[in-house]
Amino acid sequence: MALDGKILHRARERLAESRRGRELRFASRRDELYIKNPRLYELDREISLAFVNVAKALLRGGNLEEIEAENLRLQDERKAVLRKMGLAPDALDEVPNCPICGDRGYTSDGMCVCLNRLYKEEQSKELSKLLKLGTQTFKNFSLNYYSGKELAEMQRNFRMCKRFAEKFSEKPGNILMSGNPGLGKTHLSCAIARVVSDAGFSVVYETAIAFCVVFDKIKFQRLNQDDELLRDAERYASCDLLILDDLGTEMRTANTISAVYDIINTRLVSGLSTIVNTNLAPEEIGAEYSPQIASRLLGEYNVLEFAGSDMRSRIKQIG
Ligand SMILES: [Zn+2]
Repeated sequence: MALDGKILHRARERLAESRRGRELRFASRRDELYIKNPRLYELDREISLAFVNVAKALLRGGNLEEIEAENLRLQDERKAVLRKMGLAPDALDEVPNCPICGDRGYTSDGMCVCLNRLYKEEQSKELSKLLKLGTQTFKNFSLNYYSGKELAEMQRNFRMCKRFAEKFSEKPGNILMSGNPGLGKTHLSCAIARVVSDAGFSVVYETAIAFCVVFDKIKFQRLNQDDELLRDAERYASCDLLILDDLGTEMRTANTISAVYDIINTRLVSGLSTIVNTNLAPEEIGAEYSPQIASRLLGEYNVLEFAGSDMRSRIKQIG
């Protein structure tokens, strides 16, 4: 299961922020105590110098025992000072928020549970942003407005999408949904996204317009290495499931056509799943984009055709 770089970046930023918060709180509390009792400050300073003295002694052959004894005396005095101030001996020890990794986010076994928890939180935020288009699920997908041949076709599309979502972990694949707007392509894609993401996979939903803006900016603007747009491009390429919606509505240029080809091809080669939705008929793709894009989409994807007129206007007419 691929980690989403953009989401991981956000999770790590949150971890760093909480670490900085902890450091600031600690520093201000320490300064307060130093002001209350300046001897405490002197002691801490001398104790920190003890390490330097040990290093010097090791280099020049000084008396380590003496240094050690002096250090113990300083530590005892420090405890006594803290006790007098009504504080525990470890009152000035900086305690990390996460005792497992010391707030670094990683242990020798890999990602720590604390960073993983933040990652999950960011992932679910991302999904609700992704699904802000509505609350589309398989349950609330209605087949009531279809009849005859259209109904049979929609039932088949529905079944294929549901199976795709449920079997995602065993058998990732690719879907091309083709048909007029308002026939449920986005609804079914979002329903898939919800199921796949709930199973813990990284899902990125993007409209073709937004996708192409990213690649135009990457090509024509000077970006620094850490730019959000580069992270967007990276997640298009590496997420477990990419949903590219509304292909055909974006401004087509040589650059965007090549970006579309690259993403489709790269993901096929890496065995990563992609869903492409388009208002174009399958036979129009070659002329509107390129024969290579058409051959990938029509040859390697499961093609689902959505026939009929806009469902939203039909619902309006009925209602
Ligand atoms: Zn941790």
